[in-house]
This record gives sequence, C-alpha cells and structure tokens, in this order.
Amino acid sequence: MLLVLGLLLAFAGTARAAVAVGGVGARGAVTLADVNCVKQCIGAHKVRPGSTVRLRGLDLEEVRQVVFRGSRGPLQVEPMRRTERTATAIVPDGAVAGRPYVIDRAGHQSPPSPHKLFILPSASPPPLAAASGATYPIAGKHELWEGFGGAREHGGADIGAACGTPLVAALAGTVEYNKYEPRGGNYLVIDADGVDADLVYMHMSAPSPLKVGQKIAVGAAVGTVGDTGNASGCHLHFEYWIGEAWLGGEAVDPVPYLTQWEGATG
Ligand SMILES: [Zn+2]
Repeated sequence: MLLVLGLLLAFAGTARAAVAVGGVGARGAVTLADVNCVKQCIGAHKVRPGSTVRLRGLDLEEVRQVVFRGSRGPLQVEPMRRTERTATAIVPDGAVAGRPYVIDRAGHQSPPSPHKLFILPSASPPPLAAASGATYPIAGKHELWEGFGGAREHGGADIGAACGTPLVAALAGTVEYNKYEPRGGNYLVIDADGVDADLVYMHMSAPSPLKVGQKIAVGAAVGTVGDTGNASGCHLHFEYWIGEAWLGGEAVDPVPYLTQWEGATG
C-alpha cells in the first residue's frame, strides 16, 4: 500500500512537471551534483537514519522536498536549510541505499544524485560473533592483501592464499547463493545464523559443492581458494554484509571480524 502511494506520488510529481514545462517527461531546473554526509556520518556517502546530509547543486533554494529511497517506496522530508547551491536534510527512518532526488516548489522532480548514498540500518551493527562460534574463512596459510574501502572503494578484504587452500564457513548459516559471475568468479553467499549478516566468498577455484538452502555448521568446507573471475592471483575476496547482500544491506569492513576469528582459530 505504501509502495502504491509512493508510486502515485511519484507519478503526480512527474505529471505536474510535464504540465508546467509543457513536455512529457521534462525535468525541472533543479539539479543535484552530490549528496554528502555532514553530521553523524559513517563516511562521505555512508549514513544512518538521523545523519544530516548536504545536497549540492543549482537552484536548490527552490527545493520543497528531499526524496530518499525507502524499503517500501520514496520517503520525502523537508530540507532544514536551503541556499542556491546547498540544502541540508536529515535522513529519515526507513531510508535505504539509493540516489536521493528533490522536488521543487513547482513540483518538478530533479534527476537523482549522481552518487549513491549508502544507508546503514539504524540499529547498531551486530556485535562480533562469539569467538567460540566463529572461525577464520581460510583453513591454511594466508596473508591480507588489501582491506576495505580506500581509493578503490573496495567492498571486502582480499586475502592471498595458495589456490586450492580449503575455505570454510566462518559462521554457521544457510547457503544463499552459489553462482558464477564474470568479476567475482565462482562465489558463495552464506546467510549467517544468529546475526543479520551475509558472508560472501569470491574467486573460488570451482563452484562450491554446497547446495542453495543447505544448512552449514561453522568450519564446514565451502570450497577452495582460486583466481576465477577478475582476480590477479589466488586469493579470497571476502565480504561481510549487515542485512541482505546486494538487496538493501550494507557491506562493512570485514577486517575486524577476520581479526577476531583468526584469534579464535589460533
Ligand atoms: Zn577484492
């Protein structure tokens, strides 16, 4: 129902814009160059509900509503401050990752921000899994090559290990995906038990022998290190997602988890 209402609102906005400027699909003059976090931030483009974001663009003094993506449809908020080049707004509860846009006083809808705004759930991230219930995902000699984020906005940790080294389930869970993808190669996603998290293993030497939907215990064999897909050298690209991987969740820095699990493994 909320989704339907959101769509109706979106159509209403488009219809008004079309009438005002006399062309179907025509856009208003307001443009957005970027949306950056300025208060209670996790990063420049990483926020939580309650964070303050600054929109930059042109003609922003005309902004009436800032529209965030919500899990059940668009979420509109009034900006707190507006000038010609900037407007600020607070990220509303229920907002999810997406590209915000604005609606001006005439009802024109701007194109979405060119940059995606990542929104973490308002609940604090789950605590690190209990040491007893977790293990390092590589059962063998390994070395951290590259961490999370940085200039490349790397979405996980790259851990070098010889091709063929066994990979194991760092947490107990259920196999969610077992697929091939040109960049990630043979990859596996485990929906962890007890925490709202997904674990992603990429570049495996061969498809995992596990079946989607299969329950696996901590330490269960999930595959072997490889270099399939876009990989330069044998390594595990490992991701830790809070929420659903790629579906509204957020990849967070897995290194603190890996460090703890390594300690647990000994
Ligand atoms: Zn990687």
